[in-house]
Amino acid sequence: MAAVESVAKPTMECETQHFLMAQRQLDEIALEMGLDPELHERLRYPKRSLIVTIPVRMDDGTVHSYTGYRVQHDVTLGPAKGGVRYHPDVNLGEVSGLAMLMTWKCALMGLPYGGAKGGIRCQPWKLSAGELERLTRRYTSEIINLLGPDKDIPAPDMYTNEQTMAWIMDTYSINVGHTVPSVVTGKPVSIGGSYGRQEATGRGVAFCVRRAVAQVGMEKPTPTVVVQGFGNVGAVTARLLHDAGYKVVGVSDVHGGVYNPSGLDIPRLQAYLSEMGKVGGFPHADQVTNAELLQLKCDVLVPAALANQIHEGNVGTLNCRIVVEGANGPTSPEADLQLHEAGVFVVPDILANAGGVTVSYFEWVQGLMHLFWSEDEVNDRLEQIMGRACDQVFEMSARTRLRPRMSALRIGIARLAEAKRLRGLYP
Ligand code: GLU
Repeated sequence: MAAVESVAKPTMECETQHFLMAQRQLDEIALEMGLDPELHERLRYPKRSLIVTIPVRMDDGTVHSYTGYRVQHDVTLGPAKGGVRYHPDVNLGEVSGLAMLMTWKCALMGLPYGGAKGGIRCQPWKLSAGELERLTRRYTSEIINLLGPDKDIPAPDMYTNEQTMAWIMDTYSINVGHTVPSVVTGKPVSIGGSYGRQEATGRGVAFCVRRAVAQVGMEKPTPTVVVQGFGNVGAVTARLLHDAGYKVVGVSDVHGGVYNPSGLDIPRLQAYLSEMGKVGGFPHADQVTNAELLQLKCDVLVPAALANQIHEGNVGTLNCRIVVEGANGPTSPEADLQLHEAGVFVVPDILANAGGVTVSYFEWVQGLMHLFWSEDEVNDRLEQIMGRACDQVFEMSARTRLRPRMSALRIGIARLAEAKRLRGLYP
């Protein structure tokens, strides 16, 4: 740590609570693994950050200006990679912290990418389709110098989807004068997307649930699961686990949740959701709040909604054996330690939700090769990569007694450190 402490500590605009949490995680594992202090210092801040103002003509004719970000934390292993989120909480600190997580995630999964994240501070649910399109296109044009299939490749994140990626791809392509599908991933299959990408994050989470259940040796034919969040990640996880014979006893969306100790009929719940727009009110289930949902008795809890849902204030009330983090950063560092001490097995975000970026990588590779794979091929390869990463993380935790989160970080950061050492420092 000597070298880190010897320099005047830079105070950066990104140093919000959220960012400091990501940095603390790095500091903890850097100390634990004896990371070279100069390298540690380089990794504590993003390589490159861009803040843009995005003027948008609203449907009523007025012009509203939004703030957007794109942060590249590291690009040692390849182009920067990471999602774009639309949410009122988006700020430089959050995006920078999430970009750092993407660096560790890609390195852990063995993908040839650095880490990035982008976002726009807005309330996407209040915007019309036309407003969202103009917002997305102008944002793309403001950050276009950072983007490119060998520079920085956006993907969906919170409140962005296939359509958002299609607009980014189109705007980029028109500006460079030819079609460049590989500038984004998570785009629709009809314009060069990959089969299996939309379900990939949930599929990876469900895979980690099965691996974690096997790892803790749960002797039960039908483990019970509670899923917080019923968006692209939570809903797919719940359905795949339901199909695999697990009993999904509770799920929630932003408005609240439903609980049935004998198991929810997930396909029927999905049909109900498409009709009613929320899971609340689903028949044959008790209604619960999001806070109550986290306390439900279950074998596996899957937080797949917002960050910081499990914290010092509620960690003592959890009633599960395993936590599998579908969201990014759903557990605070204090809560993570307490869960570990209480013997709860936590599969960390950079492993549990890495199915998304892994199939993004497949999509990028298929686009560059102009050769497309079947859905089975995609899913088989996803299982191979997820399985290998789970084995490595669980094996290191068993051997070293490190929390799985620390093992995952250690594996990813060690790979990156080796690459940085070999590449050396320019000039
Ligand atoms: N936004 C997703 C994540 O946090 C996917 C990123 C990607 O596919 O590039 O991992």
